[in-house]
Amino acid sequence: MHQNTLEYALQQDKNDPLSYLRKEFHIPKDKHGNEWLYFTGNSLGLQPKRTQKYIQQELDDWAKFGVEGHFEGKTPWLPYHEFLTEGMAKIVGAKPKEVVVMNTLTTNLHLLMVSFYRPTKEKYKIVIESDAFPSDRYAVESQLNFHGYNIEDGLVEWNPREGEELLKIEDLEEIIENEGEEIALILVGGVNYYTGQYLDLKRIAEIGHRRNCIIGIDLAHGVGNVLPKLHESGIDFAAWCTYKYLNSGPGSLAGLFVHERHAYNKNLPRFAGWWNHNKDTRFNMRQPFDVMPGAEGWQLSNPPILSMAAIRASIDMFDEIGMDALRSKSERLTGYFEFLINEIKTDRIKVITPKNPKERGCQLSIQVKNADKKLHEKLINENIITDWREPDVIRCAPVPMYNSFEDVFRMVEILRKLL
Ligand SMILES: *Cc1c(COP(=O)(O)O)cnc(C)c1O
Repeated sequence: MHQNTLEYALQQDKNDPLSYLRKEFHIPKDKHGNEWLYFTGNSLGLQPKRTQKYIQQELDDWAKFGVEGHFEGKTPWLPYHEFLTEGMAKIVGAKPKEVVVMNTLTTNLHLLMVSFYRPTKEKYKIVIESDAFPSDRYAVESQLNFHGYNIEDGLVEWNPREGEELLKIEDLEEIIENEGEEIALILVGGVNYYTGQYLDLKRIAEIGHRRNCIIGIDLAHGVGNVLPKLHESGIDFAAWCTYKYLNSGPGSLAGLFVHERHAYNKNLPRFAGWWNHNKDTRFNMRQPFDVMPGAEGWQLSNPPILSMAAIRASIDMFDEIGMDALRSKSERLTGYFEFLINEIKTDRIKVITPKNPKERGCQLSIQVKNADKKLHEKLINENIITDWREPDVIRCAPVPMYNSFEDVFRMVEILRKLL
């Protein structure tokens, strides 16, 4: 199968129909002009070269038109978010009516919980994965507190088994069987940020819905990485950021999904602002609130156009390439990465990410026995940017849009030497 040689890696890049994309990104360099081996697209995706042009266009239209840019700009600001909807819906496998770009991720989770976490005296608990991203945990805990429940009682953790790192769906099933009547919401990461495990969203939806639990998915590490097919999965809502695999710039706006079966329900409790009011009468300013149908009905404010311009640049790239082609390269690239790591003959290393490509995205989380943060610093000295998670895990994401087989080969060579 694979070969552990530079020639082989270079040949893979030659055969890769997507290798031309690397040139469309700014690859950071060290002070001698050598490109970094960048494996942290799961934290902040690199900048597409075209992004500057998209943002510049909005700056130009602002200079030229002032407030009239809302109507007169080449891409008018008033409906600007609509230019993102179709492309974003394709990336997550949703209908356009189910998706909107707005706010930031944690804000969206809260706004969605306003509508979908409606605890009662009997049914109020929230399930999260024990290794949930800290922000998600804080958000959920604060919702419990806000509604008058305490965390010890209200928060249910879905744990890996003793001595294991990955979650088992059977264990969620058992939680729901035992406590399902008391559980209002299951909120988990579609792809876990730490282990890289990609959960079966459809199964989770089936299990939860049997006992009338709402299913929310944090897709921060899944969007632009796996094919989550949100509509078909049947989950109730999801939210994600755009600065990781979606390459839309630090702190850029987030996305939100509300399944069609809820999207038209005007009776769902929610917070309001002028941007989820009927757009035909928005500027009459004197009309009583009339909520918009679809995911747009969760917006509050007129959005930051400069951030949306960067998202539009990125979505146009995803649209040109297609998620299927990206995912196909991703599986090969990560497969090669895994092969090379397994070639390092040491018992100090263990990949904790699932071996089955269907249960992971591009990220591999490598556990290194008896290592500490110094290993991470040594990697940085060798121009390798990875993400260190205490106590002993290196998270590495070879991103199919801009990472090469050569990157992966060189990275593992250096890791081998450092060990
Ligand atoms: C990156 C990430 C966040 C970050 O939330 P922000 O609101 O964008 O700061 C939250 N949750 C998960 C699972 C993440 O991966």
